[in-house]
Amino acid sequence: MTIKKSLQTALVHTSYKAPEGFAAFPMAIHHASTVLFSSVEAMRSGNWKEKNAYTYGLHGTPTTFTLEARLAEIEDGKYCLLAPSGLAAIAIVDFALLKTGDDVLLPDNAYNPNRELGKWLAQDFGITARYYDPLIGAGIGALILPNTKLIWTEAPGSVSMEVPDLPAICQAAHDRGVLVALDNTWSAGLALRGFRLGVDIIMQALTKYQSGGSDVLMGALITRDSELQARLAQAHMRLGLGVGADDAYLVLRGLPTLKLRFDAHDASARKVAAWLKSRPEIGKVLHPALADCPGHATWKRDFDGAGGLFSVLFDARYSEAQTDRFVDALRLFKIGYSWGGANSLCMPYRIGPMRQNWQAAGQLVRFNIGLEDANDLIADIELAFAAML
Ligand SMILES: *Cc1c(COP(=O)(O)O)cnc(C)c1O
Repeated sequence: MTIKKSLQTALVHTSYKAPEGFAAFPMAIHHASTVLFSSVEAMRSGNWKEKNAYTYGLHGTPTTFTLEARLAEIEDGKYCLLAPSGLAAIAIVDFALLKTGDDVLLPDNAYNPNRELGKWLAQDFGITARYYDPLIGAGIGALILPNTKLIWTEAPGSVSMEVPDLPAICQAAHDRGVLVALDNTWSAGLALRGFRLGVDIIMQALTKYQSGGSDVLMGALITRDSELQARLAQAHMRLGLGVGADDAYLVLRGLPTLKLRFDAHDASARKVAAWLKSRPEIGKVLHPALADCPGHATWKRDFDGAGGLFSVLFDARYSEAQTDRFVDALRLFKIGYSWGGANSLCMPYRIGPMRQNWQAAGQLVRFNIGLEDANDLIADIELAFAAML
């Protein structure tokens, strides 16, 4: 017997069911807080840890499961967790793997909010956070203490661009039972195969190349080991760090063009970097594909491409006021954080205070090479050099 519905109830309930069998290329955007169960038994058998069942919107929908599976596949991993930002993904790793009394090692050139998170853990959570020379390689073994649980790596550092020796760091860490996490944002999971080099956890800021639109914030954690995945999944769940369906869709939409865009950023960035190297205004070009960059030989051994992000050190004769004038004079390059979108960006850094150990002379300016014509970007920089004097 059908229940007779009043107009108001009909506005809430419908018996219409769209026909089955609809097919199209885009993944459907499943918006949901509540997930419906067909019976009490189905509800009781659901488990948020098993991604083959749906329990609550926070723990996943077909949209987010699909993005997770695709990212795991791209990185040659098995499991993936999505977080509302790259920084949230970093925080999940720390909260999952560190407790009071533990020790974490971070590279001195780490993404600055990761560095600052280490300071907070040290200040309020009874965890020691120590910063190591990113070029330390196997020497990291001597820094590992009995209570060291985690080593962060970043390849390369996203401001000063040093390329770490990941196989050497992973070997030294694993010999002592320590886990290694890699921030693989610069390579978009394409140009550096982290698991092959030995890392245990790969973190990516999908905010950058995967989205490609400068319009999404999202992060991912990718692993191969089920026990490690379970630890990360628990922190992810306890902290409630799910992602929105529309954002997941935007990242899914970016994936088919990811490598084409990445290769285009790479080619243009190398062209602009090579031109900058020929200029008298520039002291050093910190692009891993150029010999000036600390860790260049490691880049050549371990990478098969480069991101569109690199930095320069101006010749030491230029003051900060002058290099600020240079940045202000750029027209195609806009001033802003983040990177990986179609628009070129430029950012001056006061790097000294960000580092335990920074000796190089000259003002540091970072470029994100977008998808504009490289010759137009070079012309823009040349005009801004003239405005700096
Ligand atoms: C942007 C970035 C992050 C953080 O990503 P958000 O989504 O902006 O929080 C982490 N690591 C690196 C190297 C980044 O460039």
